[in-house]
Amino acid sequence: MFGFIKKFFDFNQKELERIRKKVEEINNLEEQQRKLVDADFPKETKKLKKLLVEGKSLDGILPQAFSLVREGSRRVLGERHYDVQLMAGIALHEGKIAEQKTGEGKTLSATTALYLNALTGKGVHLVTVNDYLARRDAGWMGKLFNFLGMTTSAIISDKSYIFDASYSSEENKDWRLTHLKDCSRKEAYLADVTYGINSEFGFDYLRDNMAQNPEELVQRNFNFAIIDEADSVLIDEARTPHIISAPNEDDISKYYRYAQIAKTLNSKDDYIVDEKSRTANMTEVGIKKIEANLGVDNIYEKDFEALFHIEAALKAEALFKNNKDYIVRNNEVIIVDEFTGRLLEGRRFSEGIHQAIEAKENVSIQKESKTLATVSLQNYFRMYKKLAGMTGTAATEAEEFNKIYKADVLIIPTHSPMVRKDGADMIYKTEKAKFEAVVEEIVREYQKGRPVLVGTTSIDKNELLSSLLHKRNIPHELLNAKNHEKEAEIIAGAGKKMAITVATNMAGRGVDIILGGTKESQSSNVKSQNKWQTEHDEVVSLGGLYIIGTERHESRRIDNQLRGRAGRQGDPGETRFFVSLEDDLMRIFGGEQISKLMTMFNFPEDQALTHPMVSKAIEQAQVKVEGFNFDIRKHLVDFDDVLNRQREIIYTLRRKILNAKENFKDVVFEIIKEEIEETVNQYFVDENVFFDEEEINRIIKEIDLVVTVSESQMRELIKKKETIKLINFLVENTKNEFEKRERKIGVENWQGIVKMIILSTIDTFWTQHLTAIEDLREGINLRGYAQLDPLVEYKNEAFIMFEKLVREINFESTRRLFKVEMEGPAFAKASAGEEKKNKPMIFKSASGIDTFNQASQQSVKSNEQMPANPIRSTNKIGRNDPCYCGSGKKYKKCHYPN
Ligand code: ADP
Ligand code: MG
Repeated sequence: MFGFIKKFFDFNQKELERIRKKVEEINNLEEQQRKLVDADFPKETKKLKKLLVEGKSLDGILPQAFSLVREGSRRVLGERHYDVQLMAGIALHEGKIAEQKTGEGKTLSATTALYLNALTGKGVHLVTVNDYLARRDAGWMGKLFNFLGMTTSAIISDKSYIFDASYSSEENKDWRLTHLKDCSRKEAYLADVTYGINSEFGFDYLRDNMAQNPEELVQRNFNFAIIDEADSVLIDEARTPHIISAPNEDDISKYYRYAQIAKTLNSKDDYIVDEKSRTANMTEVGIKKIEANLGVDNIYEKDFEALFHIEAALKAEALFKNNKDYIVRNNEVIIVDEFTGRLLEGRRFSEGIHQAIEAKENVSIQKESKTLATVSLQNYFRMYKKLAGMTGTAATEAEEFNKIYKADVLIIPTHSPMVRKDGADMIYKTEKAKFEAVVEEIVREYQKGRPVLVGTTSIDKNELLSSLLHKRNIPHELLNAKNHEKEAEIIAGAGKKMAITVATNMAGRGVDIILGGTKESQSSNVKSQNKWQTEHDEVVSLGGLYIIGTERHESRRIDNQLRGRAGRQGDPGETRFFVSLEDDLMRIFGGEQISKLMTMFNFPEDQALTHPMVSKAIEQAQVKVEGFNFDIRKHLVDFDDVLNRQREIIYTLRRKILNAKENFKDVVFEIIKEEIEETVNQYFVDENVFFDEEEINRIIKEIDLVVTVSESQMRELIKKKETIKLINFLVENTKNEFEKRERKIGVENWQGIVKMIILSTIDTFWTQHLTAIEDLREGINLRGYAQLDPLVEYKNEAFIMFEKLVREINFESTRRLFKVEMEGPAFAKASAGEEKKNKPMIFKSASGIDTFNQASQQSVKSNEQMPANPIRSTNKIGRNDPCYCGSGKKYKKCHYPN
């Protein structure tokens, strides 16, 4: 650990020196750029593009590009990039994670790197954490890009915008939103620079991979993305899956029963709860009880599922607390984000926990929906050719960025020296004493008129503090998940004189807190500007914004985020954390060290202790938790990688079919040939086997399931065991049949049908596979009981399932292609492309917004319905393999279907 940190800081120093030299080069061009007239800027952009076409590298034109952006910004935004902002831009261009403190102007810093990379014409993405920021930044920086001759768009839930200087929207509260005009998704992705919310990028990717024809595709390639608030997105939210799903019909009453059983168990004899690893494990005694209750003699063999659900019910009882981990509202259990305190509406705990909590709280159990497509943010972003990030707090997570994303963190110095004062922790024995002290502190500052921003870790505590302040008649703004629409506005006012703001963590992240409040727009009159100046100066003289943390967080990074809200751009500011021995961090991870210290110093309850040793102990606890969480995430990545690779393979296949044109027949025949080989080969594994008439008939029947060919010729080849000839014969025959169909209804029509058949086959089986993999993953941890490594087990089984999936796709596609009826109404409809079944699909996102999409799930009428013919699916085992029933006999001698 220590080695990594030292290396990290040495590296940082060297990198900064290297990058500073590049900034010099940019600075040297400034004088020349000043001479340009406004109309020259788009022309300069064209010139740079041309240089790239002629073979210049991006690095080669970096100085010109950067200085052009800086000069453009100076003219149209009135903000000239500081040198440190250029340094950040270079780091971003190099695919690094730039740590720039809050308020340093990351929005502007990114423009240089975005512009340079957009010169390739491949499109660049800037990823934000919420809709508001995507629009704000596109409308704001869009002005600059427009001036430079580039297009800018914004992508948010359900909507897309394009920057249009000549357009002016009704809502003018924020000038930055004025020039955003509605546009199509596709148009938005065609823009040079696209700002968008993280989840929508993910959804568009999934939707594109459900498209039925190429015109529906909206995204281009994954070229270059800069992620704002990169730690939120890549670490805290990394594993949040984006899921496109359809409702599922399943029996849900069982969850109440499991909750009942769980209630009969006690937490000493029957099961053991580990708060650290957040697990609940049954003891032998507990297992016996459940077995008695369910009337089974060995639960591991007889009712594995029950055990899984009962453990989920125990976790729900012991580890998930109402109003902390979730809230209950309108008969629904809603997750509370542990870091931000936001309500994650629409999101559900996985592995049966959510249903278990619903049963525990006695609300109705929501039917889980069937997953149609899914990708985690982490895996989505790993697809970009180049990925960069920016945030105020990255350094503590440098190792993780490095190991998982292969991205280096670079700490960018601040433009003005940082003068914020970070006070030592105030430590209390009890939580009650701590909150009383916090209130006293707020009252004292309020009387002076100094703005205070108080951070809390949960909605509960947020409301508790609010009620305490009410008792003291202190007016304040309360910011928690329940009113997040107004979040940006409230946070923006947190720097006003006398403003007291009580907020759950990171509420309103990305919004600038200006001392004295938001400055009115440039056009406002002198009087109001003077008024702002007076207030601003007053707040400055009071010491600037004061941040109070009411608890240390599990990671230092989250503490730093809170602290970072004060002291922006050289402003004065102060921060302090109030902690108690009853806080979760201390209780669970502080260990004996801290309690020992407390008795050693032996002090009364209502008095605070500040001692460097205690603060050090707290930090050590945090480092411990951070390491612990990192390990969990790393472990989860290993799991995720498995499905991720499978998705890549399937999506690549799907895209090949979707986009196939001249090579269409070849692409399709890759599938068909594979299927024929597979079908034939399974009979000829054993050289010595003798086929009697009966068996030959069976083989013919099976081949006939896939393709229809002349029987007598086939019979000959089987008898002589001419495998290769048989395969070639079948392929030739199917080719003829394929072409016959082509001639009959026209190449284009036939292609349309083939595409539809194969794509819908892939989608059906892929969806089934996703559910199966989910189940596998949920169940796999239980394998630990049998002393097996869950990851290894998971990989093995997922691999087997994937092979099966591919075989099924090949088989079913081929079969349907040649069995699809060439006559009749179904066929006519299918060929006209009218047979569309519009099924609503639910898009679940991190922001909890569900949207309904009328994505067309085209159904193709073949003369047999999906799923695959049962005879075939049990017949995946070779005839000479041991039978699946475990008898030890050959399959053909045992359960072989007649
Ligand atoms: P961050 O995302 O780093 O917290 P923002 O991008 O929100 O910061 O910018 C904070 C404020 O600093 C904004 O009001 C912005 O206008 C201002 N700002 C940024 N860069 C400059 C600059 N070079 N000159 C003047 N003001 C700047
Ligand atoms: Mg920002």
